[in-house]
Amino acid sequence: MKAAELDLVLDRYEPVIGLEVHAQLKTASKIFCGCATTYGAPPNTQVCPVCLGYPGVLPVLNAGAVELAITAALALGCVVHETSLFARKHYFYPDLPKGYQISQFDRPLATGGSLAIVLDDDTEKSIGITRVHLEEDAGKSTHTGSGTLVDFNRCGTPLIEIVSEPDLRSPREAYLYLRCLKQVLEYLEVSDCNMEEGSLRCDANVSLRPVGRSEFGTKTEVKNVNSFRYVEDALMFEIERQAGLLEAGEQVVHETRLWDSGRGEARPMRSKEESHDYRYFPEPDLESLAVDAAMSEGIRSRLPEMPRVRAARLVSEHGLPAYDAEVLTATRALADYYEAAVELFNEPKEVSNWVMGEVLRLANERGQSVRLEPTPQPIAPTDLARLLENKQEGRISGSAAKEVLAIMVDEGGGDPLAIIEDRGLEQISDATALETEIEAVIEAHPDEVEAYRGGKAGLLGFFVGQVMKRTKGQANPELVNKILREKLG
Ligand SMILES: [Zn+2]
Repeated sequence: MKAAELDLVLDRYEPVIGLEVHAQLKTASKIFCGCATTYGAPPNTQVCPVCLGYPGVLPVLNAGAVELAITAALALGCVVHETSLFARKHYFYPDLPKGYQISQFDRPLATGGSLAIVLDDDTEKSIGITRVHLEEDAGKSTHTGSGTLVDFNRCGTPLIEIVSEPDLRSPREAYLYLRCLKQVLEYLEVSDCNMEEGSLRCDANVSLRPVGRSEFGTKTEVKNVNSFRYVEDALMFEIERQAGLLEAGEQVVHETRLWDSGRGEARPMRSKEESHDYRYFPEPDLESLAVDAAMSEGIRSRLPEMPRVRAARLVSEHGLPAYDAEVLTATRALADYYEAAVELFNEPKEVSNWVMGEVLRLANERGQSVRLEPTPQPIAPTDLARLLENKQEGRISGSAAKEVLAIMVDEGGGDPLAIIEDRGLEQISDATALETEIEAVIEAHPDEVEAYRGGKAGLLGFFVGQVMKRTKGQANPELVNKILREKLG
């Protein structure tokens, strides 16, 4: 379907989208055994009889995973239930050695929350959260030319599944929701949310209905939308496909489709891969999960400041523009870095300019993220603050400061003053020295001086440029401007 045709179709049909997001919880060990959850370990080295589903073993619930799940549920405004139940979800796949996955079904951990997202026109939209529940992950299959390899390391890694209401109305909204949810989970430090490593995965339910109708159309489920880059593509593909069917007077079949990012299409899963009947039944080896009010309240009281609240505080406390505050609160690590730097050098807007500009740029160049812990990247805030002090005192110009910063990042820190002196980057702020240079420039350009005095004020820039050339860019530009104006009358 051509873009123009698609636009016409979307004038008649409204997409209805709900997302199911799986996030791996950041625990050191698995949900029902003591095996490590380290990413990238050699295959099948982090396994034991429990997570391999040997007969006769008993799962023991990891309290740390429960706490992280409650943290996420509370931050999303859900009601955390005092009693929830684990259930076995049966399906057969080589990466699931037990033949069932321990999940939660009719009595989930938490229900009824919401997440406020900001749309492209800066308006806010609240997306309902149906439920948040705990479950275990399955292993990982890798299909090769000669067969399928199975790694069970991921079996039993704790997950939360966050199910949204079908409140999203476009692929773009789905993307914004996912981005916002990821940011919240990162702030809470409940998950790494690394889509490339599979710690955040997304399935989408999509249907279309004629504009103005309230009943939902038949939905399909698109699985395996595991990269931010593909969320909008995968949903747009499915919307276009469904619109084509409806326009041709055909029916949408309720089915599960698998997104193939290589081919850019969502193909139906073979019926063997797909099972609507999971034969859920209560997990007999685990007690019901009890969360009393005191535990919930304790966790609620420790919830960190959420990104949008923090952005608003940066505006009110530091007088930053809303744009700066939004950029600086993109991750908790970046916001922590900024606030640590402002603490050391109390010029909030100046620090913001440097962090949003050079610091982020240098970090990106090195494939790093800006952070304080465990080691500061790309430069310690103390070093940045010392550099900005030197600039504030007029010892170096803004461009020289950028140069010094790059050197400090390369050398892993260091004394900015030593670098300034070593490389002869010191700014000339001595008026007597500058006067000598300026007089030489005036003497060498009598025609321009006459023209300037005759009214060509724009020539001032020419003289500044000449002085800069003579001083190899080290002259203090403000002072040069001031003295030039005096001398030229
Ligand atoms: Zn294990």
